[in-house]
Amino acid sequence: MTNSCVFCKIVSKEAKATIVYSDEQVTAFRDIRPVARTHILIVPNKHIESVNALEVEDEQLMGHLFAVASQLAKEERIDKGGYRLITNTGIDGGQTVFHLHVHLIGGQRMKYPMG
Ligand code: AMP
Ligand code: ZN
Repeated sequence: MTNSCVFCKIVSKEAKATIVYSDEQVTAFRDIRPVARTHILIVPNKHIESVNALEVEDEQLMGHLFAVASQLAKEERIDKGGYRLITNTGIDGGQTVFHLHVHLIGGQRMKYPMG
């Protein structure tokens, strides 16, 4: 838990969010500024700043996080149509909240190319 981290506060329920899934390892909640019909953020419960800060011991956690993303896509009924998973990393990557998160975005045709 990092005192000033908004996603740590959502995990600990100190801050409000629309939580759609949680377990002992990860929490998923709706993005406050959705860019598509489905826009969910999935975060590890423990504070990891970004992909840059991942350690070998986090491999199982990240695998679990993607399994939860897959499950949520089914629940949102966007699995068949398809969706996008995004993890912005660092300033050039467009990261604005420095607690690792995966965006699950779907419900419409995504624009391409990226970048
Ligand atoms: P990123 O730019 O990849 O770091 O994404 C941060 C995301 O967090 C943005 O899409 C924000 O809209 C979202 N966000 C920031 N604060 C909150 C919050 N309190 N509850 C839900 N989503 C948030
Ligand atoms: Zn945090």
